[in-house]
Amino acid sequence: MKSLNISKTYTIIIGCGRLGAGIADSLSDQEQDVLVVDCNPGAFRKLSPDFGGLTKAGDATDLNVLSNLDICKATAVIIVTDNDNINIMVAQLVKGLAPRAHVITRLYNPDYQCIYKEQGIDTICPSLLSAREIDGLLANDREEAGLL
Ligand code: AMP
Repeated sequence: MKSLNISKTYTIIIGCGRLGAGIADSLSDQEQDVLVVDCNPGAFRKLSPDFGGLTKAGDATDLNVLSNLDICKATAVIIVTDNDNINIMVAQLVKGLAPRAHVITRLYNPDYQCIYKEQGIDTICPSLLSAREIDGLLANDREEAGLL
């Protein structure tokens, strides 16, 4: 792995699906240091041709993989694989390896959000965000129709 010239922020993104790749491209556009990890090297094709960060193929549940990411220097670790159990397990490992990093995890099931919050793990739940957004759009409709 090439070494990074770590400056202000160093963000590690675990999972290079549409969401992970989108966040990575956005941080790279802002000239932030970013490293994307995915167990499937083909996933890196989702990154923009202009992506200026680093990529690393590996299974993030493997402590050896995590330990080789300069993880203790990370200011933020964003965990967005497609599996809640993997995301939570990796988040807990990351918290142990990089206690000062801001850890943000995608969770499909919102049931345990508050437990993870207590552990210092921020969670993003797509179904809750979508419900809130749809609620807002419907409230706009009611407002426009003079029903509010
Ligand atoms: P998506 O479902 O499009 O958000 O993509 C999720 C990504 O997470 C895929 O590219 C998977 O290969 C990746 N992924 C799943 N499990 C792991 C893991 N244990 N370590 C690293 N990447 C993973």
